[in-house]
Amino acid sequence: MSKGLFVLTCQDARIRRVVERYFDSLDSEPIRNILAGASMAILTPDTREAVLRGLRLALNHHGVEVVEIIDHTDCLAYGKIDGDEFAFHNERILEAAKILQQAFPVAVRGRLIDTQSGRIRTLLAVNRGFYKEQE
Ligand SMILES: [Zn+2]
Repeated sequence: MSKGLFVLTCQDARIRRVVERYFDSLDSEPIRNILAGASMAILTPDTREAVLRGLRLALNHHGVEVVEIIDHTDCLAYGKIDGDEFAFHNERILEAAKILQQAFPVAVRGRLIDTQSGRIRTLLAVNRGFYKEQE
């Protein structure tokens, strides 16, 4: 049985089936949060509060211990990325993970969906409380 999972994905319809297949492969039902740009929703003050509010509820009432931020290539929220999209999203998710871990003692995983192929790549895993220690 996997630990309670909170998943933030982009709203883009092109990744819906990939995300649903991924959820079907899990052994428990994740708490889902869907906002344009996924990691961007955490990095943007306007939408950050909505993510933190949802995550707080999930932590307090649904036994969530792990957060997954799932970005995808060719994301319209980010616009055209020059260079390595993998590295770009890795940076953004790492920044987003820092913000989440300054607010809550959660582990954070980052993933990137290749919108063309539907493949999901794991970008990073940040242990619970990693950034908390640096406060
Ligand atoms: Zn997107």
